[in-house]
Amino acid sequence: MIPIQGELTTISDLRLSTTNAVLHVRVSRMWEFREGGNEKGNIKHLDLVLIDLKGDAIYAEIPLDVIPILKPQLREKLIIFIGKFVVEKAKPGYKVVHNPYMLRLNRRTTIATSNANDLDFPKYTFSLTPIEILPQFVKNKECFLVVRNTAGGLMMRRIIKLQNLSLPVDATPVEKIDLPNEVQTHVAFEERNLLQLNDIDPFTQKDERYQCTVTIIGIPEKQHWCYRACRVCSSKMISASDGFQCTKDGGYPSKQFEWKYKIPFIVADGTYTLEFMMFERRATELIGKSAETLRKYNDLDIIPNEISQWIGHKFTFVVRILYKKSMRTEHPSFEVLLIKDRHGKQAVLPLLNTQSSAQETGTSSALLPTKDLPELMTISSKTPTD
Ligand SMILES: [Zn+2]
Repeated sequence: MIPIQGELTTISDLRLSTTNAVLHVRVSRMWEFREGGNEKGNIKHLDLVLIDLKGDAIYAEIPLDVIPILKPQLREKLIIFIGKFVVEKAKPGYKVVHNPYMLRLNRRTTIATSNANDLDFPKYTFSLTPIEILPQFVKNKECFLVVRNTAGGLMMRRIIKLQNLSLPVDATPVEKIDLPNEVQTHVAFEERNLLQLNDIDPFTQKDERYQCTVTIIGIPEKQHWCYRACRVCSSKMISASDGFQCTKDGGYPSKQFEWKYKIPFIVADGTYTLEFMMFERRATELIGKSAETLRKYNDLDIIPNEISQWIGHKFTFVVRILYKKSMRTEHPSFEVLLIKDRHGKQAVLPLLNTQSSAQETGTSSALLPTKDLPELMTISSKTPTD
């Protein structure tokens, strides 16, 4: 029996598709990554090297806002069970251990101390670079470790310049849309309000579908309303040296893309505010035009009127959690699978009521999800351009 929820696995069995796994590992290394490559820089994230019983190692990163939650549970040499982490491709310019993947921890990550025999677990795995040959690694982005001798003995610290972090921010594959059958229009789904949806766990409830009645209250500024989709698998395409390439792991080497919708609607229902993402098929149903058509007359970062006109409209949607995205964020995002009912344009938007009542009564500070949600755009008109 393992003390936390999930399925026990090993580092070598991890894949991008892994979602609810538990690792039994030793914290081999733990260090702070600081901005600017020196100790005076602000902390950007907390980094770990984890090793399992088989001796495989993986790099894990704890984002800044999650450090206060996870750091007290961790220290070097500790053997732990760890669950609810996100498996990602290793950063191209930032390799501590030889592993094609890395882990990104989050506020839902679970950690339990193991009482495994200390002698069973490997302590170190990664190769050290001798100081004498370090100069030859200057400007090498593949791997750099700095070994220093401090008063307390040998200490390792990686120093990295931020401009060396060449990971494309938009490399996340857009999740494949699993479209419901027409039959499901008549199926009853469990009704949830947004406050309840906010509690859905992307690690354990990723396949559940819920019905929810909400009003679209905005679209975040500076976000794109469509993306370059791979013609083969609909994953996001990113620019490469020779055109564009699909970001799907082990994906088809496609170079062709087409524009597809990915509209980040902000919705509210009087209990909470969340992001409901609408992809190509549902958005085309709503708007009456394909993204490819709309893109011909509209910039990527300006929300077309055809989309913004839906702000203020109330709908009953069937949704499912976008688990890959939600595993990284404090508040979950959902995909609209089905537009079940349209209730027309609303005279009053629910957000305003929620915010003021939550503030006045002071019910809970957690009621106001402002952190993950980008600023809302002006409701009545298109975003002005500078
Ligand atoms: Zn593809």
